[in-house]
Amino acid sequence: MKRLRWPAWVVLTLFFLVVLIGFNQFTENGTYAKDEKVETKKLSKYPGLQLETRTSETKNYTLAISLPIAGDQEIDKPIQHWIKTQKEEFIAEVKANKKLFGKQKRANLTIKVETNKVNDRIYSLVFSSYRYTGGKDRQEIIKPFIVDIAQKRILKVTDILKDGKESVDEIRSIVKKQLNGQEDVAFYIMDDLLDEALKDHHQWKWSISKQSFVLYFDKHEAAAGSAGSLKAIIPLEQLRPYLKEDIIKELKISEQSKERPIEQNPEQIKLEPNGKYIALTFDDGPNATSTPRILNALEAHHAVATFFMLGSQAEYYPAVAQQVLKKGHEIGSHTESHRDLSTLKEIQIQQELGEASRKIEGATGKKPTLLRPPYGACNDKVVKEAKRNGTPIILWSVDSLDWKSRNAKAVNDVILRNIKPGAIVLMHDIHLSTAEALPSLLTALEKQGYQFVTVSQLLSLDDHSDIGPYYKRKNNI
Ligand code: ZN
Repeated sequence: MKRLRWPAWVVLTLFFLVVLIGFNQFTENGTYAKDEKVETKKLSKYPGLQLETRTSETKNYTLAISLPIAGDQEIDKPIQHWIKTQKEEFIAEVKANKKLFGKQKRANLTIKVETNKVNDRIYSLVFSSYRYTGGKDRQEIIKPFIVDIAQKRILKVTDILKDGKESVDEIRSIVKKQLNGQEDVAFYIMDDLLDEALKDHHQWKWSISKQSFVLYFDKHEAAAGSAGSLKAIIPLEQLRPYLKEDIIKELKISEQSKERPIEQNPEQIKLEPNGKYIALTFDDGPNATSTPRILNALEAHHAVATFFMLGSQAEYYPAVAQQVLKKGHEIGSHTESHRDLSTLKEIQIQQELGEASRKIEGATGKKPTLLRPPYGACNDKVVKEAKRNGTPIILWSVDSLDWKSRNAKAVNDVILRNIKPGAIVLMHDIHLSTAEALPSLLTALEKQGYQFVTVSQLLSLDDHSDIGPYYKRKNNI
């Protein structure tokens, strides 16, 4: 029988049809994928970044890797390269220690990432790689990547720091000082290791946030192993002279767009020079019971206040301290341990101030910018040290005597009797009676037309460039 042969043109046409249909399907799939991407993009808490978590397991090991993806080679490639290296090293180690694994235990590698939005285009991605491959302890490695999703690149430290040896040297000494100021770390620091780790600034493991510049040191990198991995957190204000102008500008932009849950933000509200303002202040906290109650009362009245915290208390209750700041209030220092500063030597005063400042910053991420000496005790030495510390001294014009009366009605009476525009009112957020007094007090003061501001806002109405002490608003209105 004669075999039926398809003419060449039919074969060709069919071939093209198949190709066309296939291609169509492919592009359709393509559009689908795109649409899906648009959707997931919207869902990401960090616009411009998606997160994938990759896990796998064999009989010898488990693996879990969190991987943020920017969808751009310039950013994704170096990150993926680092992860690949981690993985390869891990698998090589597992192979070398093969006998240890299988039946009972497995090796593991976990790579986590902490994502932080610095501003609308800059994210800090700080990876932690935990590796267990049978050695005597787990290995932890920190690797930060700072990415600019608008310019599609990974930032180098020289993108944010001013050029020149001077500024790098200066930062080195700030970092050393910061680490040596960490009580639990200082003892373990090995100066030669630290010097070595700080030597080449292109190799620094650094990140940046809205408030601070951070340097990371792996375990054993700068200190004895017992100290674990280290972190030096330097407030950006302190680094300002060494930062490039454009990054200062960038971060300022983010400063303004900072999300705050309360609309009455101390940086945002506009004050009238002749307004009827008073500053409520609360000393000796934060306290786990009464401070949250005071915060609730203030929030209900859209009122802001200033909390003069003890370093020791802030260290104990960092979450409460953070709440205070989050709710839009101001935090000042009430020293570390509430000693009468006027009885101390200069060096001791400096310690009381320094320690409190460090702990409050440790708890809240923000250094206190005002000082209230305990008992209002002030002398030339205190003024001198406050000046050196850059924190104006804030006393008060109205004393609620809440510590004495411990009675809500008495607190109300004393304050309402003595209040005047421009007053600074002394209270304590460690007494429940003060918390109880607050709702009716705020209502009564509001009825009289008073508005509540922080101490810094109150002082900003007049020239307040000197160190004080300030008892109330400088110029009576
Ligand atoms: Zn006190």
